[in-house]
Amino acid sequence: MSATDRCRLTDSPLEVVLDLGRQPLGNGFLPPGSLTGEYFYDLRCGYSEDSKLFQLIEQPAPELMFHEDYAFVSGTSQHMKRHFEKFALSVLEKGFCPPDTGFAVELGCNDGILLGHFADRGIHHLGVEPSADVAEMATRRGVSVINEFFGLSLAEQIIGEHGPADIVLAANVMCHIPNIKDLAAGIALLLAPSGVLVFEDPYLGSVIELTSYDQIYDEHVFLFSAMSVQRIFATVGLELIDTEAQTTHGGSMRYTLGKVGQHQVSERVEQTLAREADQGLGHLETFRGFAARVEENGRSLKAQLAKLVAAGKDVAAFGATSKSTTVYNYAGIGPDLISRIFDNTPLKVGKLSPGMHIPIVESETFHTNAPDVAFLAAWNHESEILERNKVFSRSGGRWLSHVPTVHFL
Ligand code: SAH
Repeated sequence: MSATDRCRLTDSPLEVVLDLGRQPLGNGFLPPGSLTGEYFYDLRCGYSEDSKLFQLIEQPAPELMFHEDYAFVSGTSQHMKRHFEKFALSVLEKGFCPPDTGFAVELGCNDGILLGHFADRGIHHLGVEPSADVAEMATRRGVSVINEFFGLSLAEQIIGEHGPADIVLAANVMCHIPNIKDLAAGIALLLAPSGVLVFEDPYLGSVIELTSYDQIYDEHVFLFSAMSVQRIFATVGLELIDTEAQTTHGGSMRYTLGKVGQHQVSERVEQTLAREADQGLGHLETFRGFAARVEENGRSLKAQLAKLVAAGKDVAAFGATSKSTTVYNYAGIGPDLISRIFDNTPLKVGKLSPGMHIPIVESETFHTNAPDVAFLAAWNHESEILERNKVFSRSGGRWLSHVPTVHFL
């Protein structure tokens, strides 16, 4: 566990802007019968107007979160499979990694969902993945993987063995790495002079806009904006050359960076920065308003569920997501309000949700064992889930969402 009251980038004091209470690990699904000794920490968020970096105050040690039983497998979503295929094609089309001579490195490649497209084309590549179970899946898919945490010393090792990288990729990974200075230094070292870093992460602007506080959990030590990304990488000689908004994970941003002066800067960068200034992402009071909306959202979700249960409705949830761990534990939602959670990840089925201990059941049984109301915990996969489960709504089932406010779909 590490805790700080100072910004991990600039060392400036952090203001506590949101307190989500005692929380277990977001992906800490438990086998029934092993409930003693469950790990909890205080989920509080800090912000510094100096660095513009929204971050957790306390974070469990990375080894507690990323290991041989890591429960998040990227390829369980068909939508994400398509997204990452398009991501790979887009960077290849932009010429960021010449297929014959280029070298691509991906941080947190998970099961190989993105880097697999480089492997398929015979492009020299390397995935860095500390969670052994998903690293093994990537290897089976034909992706070269090193089972380590990325940082400056690993960057030195990679350069020694493979030379500099033309492209460093990362999706939903950079925001997981607490030692941001070491991470940025490692990337800057690893990149060839004309190399680029392309990464995407859940976007702070979307979280504020949608009150999607469930993006905040142990693994997400940071929620980035273009403002903060610019500051982080300026310290190691990289500049932001493009920003592209993504719809994935309920609103993400893809950032492209290169060594200063090596690339043309897209006009999208200024546009994004101007929008962020308008949204108030540089000011403390924006986060205080956000905290008030979060409180109201948690209260009203619990009240709605209690009302349904009191009326005799069978209420379940769809998607045993890490993000919903935050919601259930913050709002105090247990098996008395949500009887079971449907999910298709083998590592989660048969287990209990972290902290509140709601049973996870196979989503194949959703139709035979349908509830009256399904809480859409995986709200960011709304279209995929509703499309696959049309029968549920047709036979009178109702979907409940809490983003941006509590409502039936
Ligand atoms: N890129 C995938 C996986 C995201 S989950 C996707 O977008 O679906 C985050 C991944 O980052 C996990 O697989 C985790 O093991 C990995 N990770 C965590 N810390 C890391 C580090 N320091 N270096 C590289 N990968 C890391």
